[in-house]
Amino acid sequence: SIPLGYFGGIGAGSRNGILFKGGNYLDVMAAIKNVVMDKTGTLTRGVFQVQEVKLEPGLDEDAVLQWVNVIEQRSTHPVATAIHEYLGAKAQVLAVTGVEEIAGHGLKGVVAGKELLVGNFKLLDKFSIPYPVNPEAIVLTLVAIAIDGKYAGYITIADEIKEDAPQAIQQLHDLQVNTVMLSGDKSSVVKYVAEKLGITQAFGDLLPEDKVNKVKGIKAANSSVAFVGDGVNDAPVIALSDAGIAMGGLGSDAAIETADIVIQNDQPSKIPVAIRIGKMTRRIVW
Ligand code: ADP
Ligand code: MG
Repeated sequence: SIPLGYFGGIGAGSRNGILFKGGNYLDVMAAIKNVVMDKTGTLTRGVFQVQEVKLEPGLDEDAVLQWVNVIEQRSTHPVATAIHEYLGAKAQVLAVTGVEEIAGHGLKGVVAGKELLVGNFKLLDKFSIPYPVNPEAIVLTLVAIAIDGKYAGYITIADEIKEDAPQAIQQLHDLQVNTVMLSGDKSSVVKYVAEKLGITQAFGDLLPEDKVNKVKGIKAANSSVAFVGDGVNDAPVIALSDAGIAMGGLGSDAAIETADIVIQNDQPSKIPVAIRIGKMTRRIVW
């Protein structure tokens, strides 16, 4: 039979908006050594706002932005949502074919007869397209655009750190937990957010499989890992962690279904709360 303490712990979780899918995850959280977190949607709101459009001279801005908007309509990524919000009124019915979402990079497709690439600068690298800017020098997320194999410009977008994120990191450190951030966004933005939050280790420019390998590395050092994420691409790493945690509000269904623990209102400050509930439960059970 399940000890009464577990019911108490699961109940305390539920009163705090934390869904534990089993009593064993209370124990896992009580003894957790590392909390590894995704950036976008986990520590930041995941709601990007367009700041600036910088196209190469001679291009028709209205036309290019329409093509970008139309191709982004094929994606549900937070970057795509920002583009729709900004360009929504300009959306038009245009012929789009062969759209491909390239994980961790962006989109490729043909719009109005033009071969379009819309994503990060790694996407342009992948197609060997040169560009006259240093993306790392700009501390904002960038959406790069190439048309017919030629660099066409970029759009800058910005997200916001969640209000309770600094407190979450501080409390994890108070609980002697090591903090790590893993992100697919570019390194300069990742470094900026990590420094603002005081996160111990942070890595950017990661593909979904790189996140998996980083977590495997920490686990191989015989150290327990809780991974917190929200995206479809976080599901594999949520599955392999000792405690997989999903943001339940804006999180993807794949992340929520795979998770062992769900934070219903998306607040990162619920992570140290989950650990404290685990520790309290253990004191009652043992
Ligand atoms: P993360 O959620 O950690 O940022 P992703 O793997 O979802 O990681 O995305 C990595 C990067 O790829 C994003 O930061 C963005 O720059 C780019 N990207 C992904 N999808 C798109 C898209 N639909 N449009 C533009 N850029 C994209
Ligand atoms: Mg994310």
